[in-house]
Amino acid sequence: MPVRGKPFKACRRCKALVDKNATECPYCGSRDLTEDWDGIIIIIDPESSEIAKILGFTKPGRYAIKVT
Ligand SMILES: [Zn+2]
Repeated sequence: MPVRGKPFKACRRCKALVDKNATECPYCGSRDLTEDWDGIIIIIDPESSEIAKILGFTKPGRYAIKVT
């Protein structure tokens, strides 16, 4: 069975995962949202997270690892 209907859309600008029904990103205000993303990373404390630094995430939240 093909996987359709992901629960989130990803923002192409900041990679944040937003509600599927959202029309714009609550983090950066971009309307460039896509369902074409892969992998979830949850940033709780960006200050002390090496991964957050490497990937450039500055705010806590859910992010897509790959957005195409
Ligand atoms: Zn965004």
